[in-house]
Amino acid sequence: MPLYDATCREHGTFEVLAKAGAPILCVCGAEAQRELSAPAKMATLWSGGWRQGLGGDGFFSHSAGQRVSDKREEERIMHSRGKINVKDLGGEAFEDTFTAGKQREKREHDALVATYTSNLKAFGGDKTRAVTETFPAKAMLEQAATHDAKESA
Ligand SMILES: [Zn+2]
Repeated sequence: MPLYDATCREHGTFEVLAKAGAPILCVCGAEAQRELSAPAKMATLWSGGWRQGLGGDGFFSHSAGQRVSDKREEERIMHSRGKINVKDLGGEAFEDTFTAGKQREKREHDALVATYTSNLKAFGGDKTRAVTETFPAKAMLEQAATHDAKESA
């Protein structure tokens, strides 16, 4: 996944790993505008023209907006500009967004902490019981199965 600089109108610029085309949200919930940090972008993805770049007499780079002799030249041009707008990238598909995954993990974690806390209260401070109730074997097995499914997907 490429690394983006994303800018929230309220909170300024922050860095985030994200999927092309997917909205990037600031912690405040507003959609942030994104740009791509060139050094993080893989050379093979500049315009999806890697194979064309091996052709010999160059190709038109949509990323660079000009004809280039090969991917190496295109990459050099893009790097010299420092940043490009994500709309120039074309339709490459990337993996799930890093931020969405992290937010989901945090929500799951927060939910577990809340459950544990209420169980601890319910069982008069019995931590062993609270843990057992918070992490029932069935839920743990389901979680493991989901995790395995994700890993093999
Ligand atoms: Zn914000």
